[in-house]
Amino acid sequence: MEETEEIKSLNFIEQIIEKDLAEGKNEKRVHTRFPPEPNGYLHIGHAKSICLNGGLAKKYNGKFNLRFDDTNPETEDEEYVNSIRNDVKWLGFQWDGEYNASDYFQQLYDYAVQLIKLNKAFVCELTAEQMREYHGTAVTPGKDSPYRNRSVEENLALFERMKNGEFPDGKYLLRAKIDMASPNMHFRDPALYRIRKKHHYRTGDKWNIYPMYDFAHGLSDAIEGITHSICTLEFEVHRPLYEWINNTLNTTYRPQQIEMSRLNITYTVMSKRKLMQLVNEKHVSGWDDPRMPTVSGLRRRGYTPEAIRDFCERVGISKRENLIDVSLLEFSIREDLNKKAPRVMGVLNPLKVVITNYPEGQVEELEAVNNPEDESAGKRMVPFTKELYIEQEDFLEVPSKKWFRLAPGTEVRLRYAYFITCQEIIKDSEGKVVELRCTYDPASRGGNSPDGRKVKGTIHWVSAIKGISAEIRLYDRLFTTETPDKGDVDFKELINPNSLQVIKSVLEPSLAIAKAGESFQFERMGYFCVDKDSTEKNLVFNRTVSLKDTWAKIADKN
Ligand code: ATP
Ligand code: MG
Repeated sequence: MEETEEIKSLNFIEQIIEKDLAEGKNEKRVHTRFPPEPNGYLHIGHAKSICLNGGLAKKYNGKFNLRFDDTNPETEDEEYVNSIRNDVKWLGFQWDGEYNASDYFQQLYDYAVQLIKLNKAFVCELTAEQMREYHGTAVTPGKDSPYRNRSVEENLALFERMKNGEFPDGKYLLRAKIDMASPNMHFRDPALYRIRKKHHYRTGDKWNIYPMYDFAHGLSDAIEGITHSICTLEFEVHRPLYEWINNTLNTTYRPQQIEMSRLNITYTVMSKRKLMQLVNEKHVSGWDDPRMPTVSGLRRRGYTPEAIRDFCERVGISKRENLIDVSLLEFSIREDLNKKAPRVMGVLNPLKVVITNYPEGQVEELEAVNNPEDESAGKRMVPFTKELYIEQEDFLEVPSKKWFRLAPGTEVRLRYAYFITCQEIIKDSEGKVVELRCTYDPASRGGNSPDGRKVKGTIHWVSAIKGISAEIRLYDRLFTTETPDKGDVDFKELINPNSLQVIKSVLEPSLAIAKAGESFQFERMGYFCVDKDSTEKNLVFNRTVSLKDTWAKIADKN
């Protein structure tokens, strides 16, 4: 019974691994890798891949490599390398070995020479346009390149001259010699090496030719002794080529490529290229803008590694294309912060309250609980004074029957403080309520009923004199539609103009010493964390997530 449950809960990749282990394949090793191209910051899709690859290595007592797939000198940069290392570590994964595809440039070159010697590769000089013409289509076969039958010697000589920088970019390509009539387009004599006279951030100007992804990737896996090479579904059609290269070159290790579906999330885009556009065209403040689906953006927004790992676990892995509702991500962070975040009081949209019968100048320190879910979080003191702020939304001049918060003549409990009754409303010249005059019941100290009378509503508050002001950044979905990059419209036209709202708020004074990255639950309002822009003089908080899923509520109503 237990055994069947165990088997059922394995995902399809774990099933493959357990079968391999049972059969003694790969000397019973499990060795995975995460192979980012250092051309941007990691996003939550990458996080899923890290959790999967790093998690499998952990689970099966194997090894996990971090490999920078740096074969594109134009787009890669050390800045990205550092951010990637930082993000992987932050997510809670330590790699066993750190490598770069560029570490293997000499080895890859030697492999290419070997392929030429095996008469399995040739130097082609068709132009890009001719290449397209010769390539055929999905329904028509391609045509052999007229350069396909060069002699091995001629190919070796030309390839060496390509390496030595004797030709301009694009003049020659090294191509595999496979089958121009294959139904698999990736088998139609695919390119293996191209000329790029570009400076590489690691190898400098040493190389004038760079290997193509398909050639470099499978061989890098083989060189490192990777056993299970997990990638996304679009590489399924590359798998025969992946295997052809390693088999033809008779590499020591023959890693198995396994494909899974990409992670897609609603209301965002998940491609470095598009995220880069958002950054470069200043639609967001940077890669770590809290609205971005990047690991650095989520971190700045207040997400924890635990929440992201939990989310990746919940999403699971499959071979089906899917779109995950962003509320699931929000669910994971709420769950985690509910356990961890201390409760505080902060008034986002302040409305002044004067307690007319409270002594002028008096300050009382009242006891408040840091986390009702966790006694060990302890207590703190919050100052109560004659002038206070409450949330504008907690007052209604003309209340409905079900309104339990403040209204003219009604009584509410101020959390941890006193019962107050609204006696008078002060309006400005435009008729807007700007101040409430209330009385308090001194016998209700601590928020306890002195005589058994019931007060249904409890609202939060902050002392107007002792409270501290703060800038609060409220975030909403970055896009107005679920799949901004799937329609006919440019995804940037679908950016939500209200995705960032900045307000001035008042917080309880204990928050004055909060440090960048620290998270709190503002009672009744949501989870907030201190932004890196925050200073002693200008506190800045990000709203990580509201307490309830307001979008689900809106959707329910419709
Ligand atoms: P992007 O399309 O965002 O640029 P990429 O695949 O080009 O992504 P890489 O740096 O090549 O980015 O990816 C590193 C690893 O992360 C690869 O193994 C890739 O399969 C995986 N990965 C990338 N995006 C996703 C995603 N959305 N879901 C799951 N895995 C992903
Ligand atoms: Mg890629």
